[in-house]
Amino acid sequence: MIKRYSITFWATVFVSVVCLSLVVIDVWRSLNARAGQLQEMERLAANVARAMAQQADDTIKAADTALADIVERIETEGLQPAATARLQKQMAAQVANLPQLAGLFVYDEQGRWIVNSRALKNHAYNNADREYFNYHRTHAERAPHVGDPVISRSTGNWVMPVSRRLNKPDGSFGGVALATLDIDYFRRFYQSFDVGARGAVALISDNGVLMLRQPFDNTRVGGSMRDSDLYRHYARQQGAARAGSLFFHSSHDGELRLNSFRPLTHYPLFVTAALSREEMLERWRRDTFTRSIGVVVLAALIGFFGKRLVGQIKLREQAEAELRQARDALESANRTLERQAMQDGLTGLANRRQLDVTLGNEFSRATRNADTLAFIMIDVDYFKQYNDLYGHSAGDEVLRTISKLIRALTPKRPGDLSARYGGEEIAILLPNTDLQGAQAVAERIRAAVEERRMPHSGSSFGHVTLSAGVATIAPKRGEHVAGMLVEAADKALYQAKSAGRNRVCLARD
Ligand code: GH3
Ligand code: MG
Ligand code: MG
Repeated sequence: MIKRYSITFWATVFVSVVCLSLVVIDVWRSLNARAGQLQEMERLAANVARAMAQQADDTIKAADTALADIVERIETEGLQPAATARLQKQMAAQVANLPQLAGLFVYDEQGRWIVNSRALKNHAYNNADREYFNYHRTHAERAPHVGDPVISRSTGNWVMPVSRRLNKPDGSFGGVALATLDIDYFRRFYQSFDVGARGAVALISDNGVLMLRQPFDNTRVGGSMRDSDLYRHYARQQGAARAGSLFFHSSHDGELRLNSFRPLTHYPLFVTAALSREEMLERWRRDTFTRSIGVVVLAALIGFFGKRLVGQIKLREQAEAELRQARDALESANRTLERQAMQDGLTGLANRRQLDVTLGNEFSRATRNADTLAFIMIDVDYFKQYNDLYGHSAGDEVLRTISKLIRALTPKRPGDLSARYGGEEIAILLPNTDLQGAQAVAERIRAAVEERRMPHSGSSFGHVTLSAGVATIAPKRGEHVAGMLVEAADKALYQAKSAGRNRVCLARD
């Protein structure tokens, strides 16, 4: 299978796979980083919410403890002037001691100021209209009550009222002990959290009234949150599910934020820390953007150089293929040339050049091995007349026919060679052959041509015949040369011609 595809195909696949993996790995990494960023965001928001809830709980608890103390004293010692004076001192000390405390107040059952931490005796003020006053008048519970934020009549600042009911000895409503907590105290604490430029934190009562929001908005304190997605979700939850994290669109500015919300342990309030999703992902986006540009540039570079590399490989392959073709063409041309150089074109027999080379080689070998070398010289009879009578091409055809017969009738041992000697003369070299053997070969050929009965009206035989001279030699170094063997065969041929043609003559030693 692999062999069916070229190296350029695999190089292309390789480059593509590298580029693609680069992109895929980067996308995967980016998604991971994004999930990590969101997780980090959730953890951060949850931590802020936990710290806020703890702080609010502790802050309110401290004020509430002071309140419980006041209620206990009034109920045991009454409100005689001496007791009131002591109480007032103690309240002033408490307020000085607790920075979150704006003031401590005691009102009678009509809402009139009885005693307060500032030693103010302003009977012009009456707090019977306040929500907490009404609450305690109508509820017999002794538990603390956290009211909606109000603007203090004594300071003009936003305060959070925490109150307890005073009972008369008979158990009927005897007034209210009130602690006001400075909203600004919470705000200063919330300012210390870094929730980003678009983040927000808030303290909200369980019935949906906003106590405080940071960034601070004076107009929204005391406002309702009941229509917000956050509050609606929170109000539906019970128990442990009241603490959690969810994305909500802000009812305030529409920003999508991750809200981590958590109720206070002891008071009916909850806090939320909200981080802007856009802001949190902005850094991730910036990182991803720069990295992606890097990856794209890298992939483009790899792609570009890969493409060039593939192009180079392709070119080299082409060049190699062309080279192979050229070499094959050259080799076949060489073989043709070699054959042409050694072969006679008309008859297909060896040519004179090859005969000379082979004769030289065989002569040397016979000399070394003390072997006999036989040589037959054949010449067609009356061939000039044949050409004159039948034409040159017919003469060529006769030469071809004779050559074919000779090829069929000569032995095919190594070193045996039939060659066109020149014109219509054919020579046969038979190494390691004696005179009788060579004579037999020559005779077979002569007889075969005669039997062919190729008409020749110019011949006294009436058909084409040939004459042959046969000679052998056992060459001795320094005594014989190859030409002697040819000469002897030629002489024998001459004798055959003289003796009437169509015959084989042997050279006398
Ligand atoms: P002889 O019986 O004495 O051999 O008479 P001959 O006519 O054959 O005389 P010779 O051997 O001298 O003849 C040579 C003739 O062979 C001359 C030429 O016309 C003919 N010949 C030589 N080469 C070729 C050839 O390639 N093709 C053809 N058609 N004829 C050739
Ligand atoms: Mg001749
Ligand atoms: Mg002849």
